[in-house]
Amino acid sequence: MKETSGKLIETIERTESIKSFRFLPDEKIHFSPGQFLQLIFDEKDRQNRLMNKYLSFSCAPQREYIEVTKRLSNSEFSLKLKQLHLGERVLLRAPMGDCVFSDEYTKIGFLIGGIGITPVISIIEYIIEKKVSTSICLLYSNRFEDDIAFRQELNLWQTIYPHLLHVVYLVNECKPKDKQCLYGIITKNIVITHMADWRERVIFVFGPPTMVNIMKDICSEISCQKGNIKTETFAGY
Ligand SMILES: Cc1cc2nc3c(=O)[nH]c(=O)nc-3n(C[C@H](O)[C@H](O)[C@H](O)COP(=O)(O)OP(=O)(O)OC[C@H]3O[C@@H](n4cnc5c(N)ncnc54)[C@H](O)[C@@H]3O)c2cc1C
Repeated sequence: MKETSGKLIETIERTESIKSFRFLPDEKIHFSPGQFLQLIFDEKDRQNRLMNKYLSFSCAPQREYIEVTKRLSNSEFSLKLKQLHLGERVLLRAPMGDCVFSDEYTKIGFLIGGIGITPVISIIEYIIEKKVSTSICLLYSNRFEDDIAFRQELNLWQTIYPHLLHVVYLVNECKPKDKQCLYGIITKNIVITHMADWRERVIFVFGPPTMVNIMKDICSEISCQKGNIKTETFAGY
């Protein structure tokens, strides 16, 4: 793990409240898809949890830049991030986390809610760019259709690589307009129906604590092998 300064080079709005930030690090950060970093605003007090937060990489490791994607709130950390100008620098500590993709996995599945999508994007980009032939099935749940971050990218990848990637969107607060989007939450029946070969897949669960716990319960209900479930909890939600 190392610390390096990163220069903000681009921001991308993913939804009304979710934004990506791309930084050019002074020194290359080597990480595995699925890992995260710590973005440090308070360099004097490293224990300041409110100003030094963990964010997953939301881009493939092969990139020159690194990207993180944050659900922006009214917290001081979010406000500071929103106020960063292009060219400004932040301190980054990375990489962290062992919920990572391995090239040896031939089939993977994702059970994802909301902002948990960020490391998934890193993993999918990595698989596509490295031409790994892993089959990917993503069940991705949000409250509203407009909350679906990276939808354009996921749809494009699905069109180009239909043999590789299958995405099922779910929204649960109001009926979706898009017919490809299901109305409801990820349940045991949804997994059995839309990821019928779940027994053959390594299942990844990323997201806020409540979501991760519910998905873990579903995995045990459908008797997934413990060794086939990989989870990372986004503490702080
Ligand atoms: C491994 C990991 C990966 C993550 N990846 C992402 C990501 O890719 N994108 C993303 O948006 N977020 C991610 N998070 C969560 C992120 O670090 C922030 O905690 C979250 O975004 C909320 O920050 P905030 O400043 O907007 O909210 P705040 O308003 O500061 O906090 C929201 C709520 O959480 C509570 N809280 C704050 N900090 C903590 C804490 N350390 N522990 C427990 N409760 C706390 C607050 O009291 C408040 O109730 C990740 C977290 C972890 C641990």
